[in-house]
Amino acid sequence: MKVANYTEKQTEKIQRLKEEKNAVLLAHYYQDPEIQDIADYVGDSLQLAREAAKTEADIIVFAGVHFMGETAKIINPSKKVLVPDLQASCSLAESCPADKFEAFIKKHPDHVVVSYINASAAVKTLSDIVCTSSNAVEVIESIPPEKPIIFAPDKNLGAYLAEVTERDILLWDGACIVHEAFAIEKVLKLHRQYPNAEFLAHPESPKEILEVANYIGSTAGIIKYAQHSSASEFIVATEAGILHEMSKTMPEKTFIPAPSKDDNSCACSECHFMKMNTLEKISRCLEFESNEIQIDDEIIAKALAPIERMMAL
Ligand code: 13P
Ligand code: SF4
Repeated sequence: MKVANYTEKQTEKIQRLKEEKNAVLLAHYYQDPEIQDIADYVGDSLQLAREAAKTEADIIVFAGVHFMGETAKIINPSKKVLVPDLQASCSLAESCPADKFEAFIKKHPDHVVVSYINASAAVKTLSDIVCTSSNAVEVIESIPPEKPIIFAPDKNLGAYLAEVTERDILLWDGACIVHEAFAIEKVLKLHRQYPNAEFLAHPESPKEILEVANYIGSTAGIIKYAQHSSASEFIVATEAGILHEMSKTMPEKTFIPAPSKDDNSCACSECHFMKMNTLEKISRCLEFESNEIQIDDEIIAKALAPIERMMAL
């Protein structure tokens, strides 16, 4: 009961602060349910970037991870962009330090550089075009067919794109800790328990997982697929936060999180970076206008060009 009262108080305070300060709260599908429930907009990486671009609010509070806050600032630099926790990083962004990536690119000067949005602003400045998981195929197909491509930082998404588009793609060796951990044997065993379930997977998952999926797509794509499918049971291979939106919008359907290699007690896969955000941290950053994303004007200008190329597609 006390916990419920506390959550209610925090929620009320955030609502009040949002109105007073003309702030908008954007949340990714991987956020905790109570954060998704008070957000003005919940979405995948591309949808949230679009919302950040068109908002008329003075302050954007981004409940996601650091590269998402950075992207919002690059797209809309006149706004104050706050994040609940500046330490909320991403294993993909961390796997690709800009200096090492620059040296890698220099070795392959004839390649077109495509970076996944899950990368730092500095890596974006080194890229020709950015993509998200929902438009990655389109982005690759927009590149002249004779051009070889560098894709970073996600080797799983990159390998999937090379297969689907039949393009020559040189991969950076990065991976998402959450999607890398899905265990194919456990997924197959679970599927034997739910033989009518469809298996939906995010393309950050490894090849053996993607090979058995009925549908592969971004978080928004997974939700949309389930909404239009005639199946009533789904095994879902992405971060477990997505199950909140799925159960909320499709209460008549059953969603089962895909099991990970190292968890025996709980079947869900959680991104500890995404889960660093809390209602209390949101309320605090909004109240004190703290944890502001700061990026040099020069980096903003350089990183904006490859993002705009993506947005224009
Ligand atoms: P999308 O929401 O774009 O599918 O991205 C998933 C993800 O891993 C974000 O960190
Ligand atoms: Fe990064 Fe994976 Fe967490 Fe998304 S789920 S923020 S890709 S570590």
